[in-house]
Amino acid sequence: MDIVVLKKGATAKELRHIVKKLESKGFKANVSKGIERTVIGVIGDTSHITEDESNAFATMAGVDNVHRITKPYKLASRDFTPKNTTIRIGKNTIGGKKIHVMAGPCAVESLSILMEISKEVKKAGATFIRGGAFKPRTSPYSFQGLEEEGLKHLAAARKATGLPFVTELMDPRDMEVILKYTDVIQIGARNMQNFRLLKEVGSYNKPVLLKRGLSATIKDFLMAAEYIMAQGNSKVILCERGIRTFETATRNTLDLSAVPVLKKLSHLPVIVDPSHGVGKWDLVAPMAKAAIAAGADGLMIEVHTKPEEAYSDGEQSLKPAKFKTLMRELKAVAKAVGRTM
Ligand code: PEP
Ligand code: MN
Repeated sequence: MDIVVLKKGATAKELRHIVKKLESKGFKANVSKGIERTVIGVIGDTSHITEDESNAFATMAGVDNVHRITKPYKLASRDFTPKNTTIRIGKNTIGGKKIHVMAGPCAVESLSILMEISKEVKKAGATFIRGGAFKPRTSPYSFQGLEEEGLKHLAAARKATGLPFVTELMDPRDMEVILKYTDVIQIGARNMQNFRLLKEVGSYNKPVLLKRGLSATIKDFLMAAEYIMAQGNSKVILCERGIRTFETATRNTLDLSAVPVLKKLSHLPVIVDPSHGVGKWDLVAPMAKAAIAAGADGLMIEVHTKPEEAYSDGEQSLKPAKFKTLMRELKAVAKAVGRTM
């Protein structure tokens, strides 16, 4: 029994009694009060609850029914929170009708380059800046990021454009400095199952953009979101960014079916990163459009003024003019599926 649904007219006293009972058994009760009725999510290892115990709960005053859900995630589950979650970041709301586009370079390389790119993406209609200051590189000899200096540049770009920014955290030891500057904390694909890191970002109130791991199933992905939410932070944005398959024609295989699947299983906002998904700039636009058509709440797109000189991921970065054209085309796709941009 993982979810307790209360009767429509259940009293506060009955609710308290049920919560107490759950707590006495070592569980945490997460009470969600809807307009129609109250639902209690039972947090903890419920696998050892017997059928009899579960039935006994169902007979308690105020209880309508109890559900045993087979899904191991609860807080991230739509069974528990049927309504879409929206996350407010500055003036932006993610997960609502409006599609948000997070755009910028793969890595923050210098203040002047970042400024130039940020102004271009803002002009084209992006609502967030993206850029890595701590870079997860396959080779230890590749550019690793400007770290705090990069964060300062991002803060300067935010000031100049008015756009909030998203940047990656790779290590709990950098949490303090990330918190000082950042609007949205990105957990990269390679760290999707870095559980200490997930717990760390879960214990703050900052929005988290969680990228799907390279070989993570949808269940693994939602369990990672659950790790963050179980610590108390419910501001989680899911990001499909491609998975490893046998295919080599693209950098990864962008799993766009993940969008409607995640939307069905979870109430969390879902965005798509076609840049890392395909790895080639000329494939970004078609997949970006397809992502919106599939129901994504937003996109993350790499843009660089001089992709040929980029420190990382130049081959998948759009030049500002191409990005601007794409943004115009995306508007039409968004409109066709009842969204705005
Ligand atoms: C990124 O967005 O900068 C990045 C490294 O992406 P991913 O973790 O999806 O590879
Ligand atoms: Mn990149």
